[in-house]
Amino acid sequence: MTRNYSAKRLPKHAGAAGWNAILEPMRPARVLSENTEVDFAVIGGGFAGLSAARRLSQLNPGARIALLEAGRIGEGAAGRNSGFMIDLPHDLTSDNYAGESERSDQKITRLNRMAIDFAHSMVEEFCVDAAYFRHEGKINGAGCEASHARNISYAGHLEQLGEDYQLLDAEDMARLTGSRYYRSGLYTPGTVMLQPAGYVRQVATGLGDLVDIYEDTPALSFSRTGAGWTIRTPAANLDAGKIILCNNGHLESFGIKRGRLMHVFLFACMTEELDETARRRLGGEGRWGITPSDPMGATIRRIDAGQGGNRIVTRSWAEFCPGMETSERQMCRATASMRRKFDDRFPQIAGMPMEYSWSGHLCLSRNGVSVTGEIDDGVYAACCQNGLGTTRGTLTGICAAEQASREKSVVTEFFGKQEEPSLLPPPPISTLGATAILRWKEWQARKE
Ligand SMILES: Cc1cc2nc3c(=O)[nH]c(=O)nc-3n(C[C@H](O)[C@H](O)[C@H](O)COP(=O)(O)OP(=O)(O)OC[C@H]3O[C@@H](n4cnc5c(N)ncnc54)[C@H](O)[C@@H]3O)c2cc1C
Repeated sequence: MTRNYSAKRLPKHAGAAGWNAILEPMRPARVLSENTEVDFAVIGGGFAGLSAARRLSQLNPGARIALLEAGRIGEGAAGRNSGFMIDLPHDLTSDNYAGESERSDQKITRLNRMAIDFAHSMVEEFCVDAAYFRHEGKINGAGCEASHARNISYAGHLEQLGEDYQLLDAEDMARLTGSRYYRSGLYTPGTVMLQPAGYVRQVATGLGDLVDIYEDTPALSFSRTGAGWTIRTPAANLDAGKIILCNNGHLESFGIKRGRLMHVFLFACMTEELDETARRRLGGEGRWGITPSDPMGATIRRIDAGQGGNRIVTRSWAEFCPGMETSERQMCRATASMRRKFDDRFPQIAGMPMEYSWSGHLCLSRNGVSVTGEIDDGVYAACCQNGLGTTRGTLTGICAAEQASREKSVVTEFFGKQEEPSLLPPPPISTLGATAILRWKEWQARKE
């Protein structure tokens, strides 16, 4: 029997990825243009793909490794997120991010910190700009009493875990952000703040000495040929002994884990450069990052020249999109909601034009697990990162590379014990149900 996996769809992005747009222009892509043979092929150039390629090169010195990215590195979700590489549990389905138990939260925190250390070692090795990867910590901002209570409850949980934190009052929040919107904040020091597009682009550049990286080169299909696999791309084929799929939600585009992955799109926007007058009116410090104390609220970041300009980035609004793309109408609704949230927080610069607005793909499972492990002979997956793809993507990438190299570690042990993603109700029930839940939760979190 021929085993053939064909991509039913390829990634489609809506809106310019602001983080990438504010960096220096990209060099022309290196496209796979002639038939090539490698030991390992990685499909997807986000957090998972880059980490998998790096780990493969560590474990298999001298092996031929290629990475195929459908578009440009920095243009996909890895360059469209808010850049919070969080060390602590970040369970989006809970009320305050806490996980199911103290023990599991401690384990996840240890693993998340391993991912951060792994990413940091790439930053050092590949001379990634220090401003793209800062150990700065982040704040859970509370805009109302209920959210403040959530912060207090999360602080109690951190206490039990033995984690550092600091509670900030409304004055502290105003001093930091220039906004009088926040009732309180909960600072935790372990989060790394990324310039996400800068980070993935520069890691890819450094990795380019060890791995052949082909962009604008989507994997259209892969099929079993002899002892390996042939990956078809628009201009040439890539023969690989083993494949690691790091294409997140697009795993399902190859017919894998069908009906088990939830495709949610998040929206974000970035102001134009804040000139001196706007900065004076805004006040506050030049760089900070706030996640909402209710997971369904808005994430707000202020960045400075080191990350590509003095700007504010707002992330809010979610849509369930089983077709893996967003519509113009959804983008309009999301930008209107983000405009409101921005103006509520910063009345002193209300109406500040948004230079970039975009959406990005998040892949979730109902039971919060990722897809890892060998899914066919010599085909491994590092997909479905749930809410925290910067750290989880790095971890699943490490995991898949280790599994493909027959290496055991605490990472492979952790993911080896995960169940498979639970089945979703059939459409349209899943779409109607998920959309109703998202709208209800967003309404509940409207002050956040
Ligand atoms: C607005 C927004 C804000 C977010 N904020 C945060 C945050 O602050 N912190 C956090 O941890 N997470 C955040 N996330 C989630 C995070 O961005 C993702 O979970 C993360 O990018 C997943 O990493 P990944 O490498 O698994 O997948 P991706 O980054 O999606 O990379 C997969 C890559 O595979 C490529 N691909 C797909 N199909 C093919 C194919 N057939 N051939 C070749 N290549 C293919 C895609 O082009 C893509 O580049 C946010 C997401 C969004 C959209």
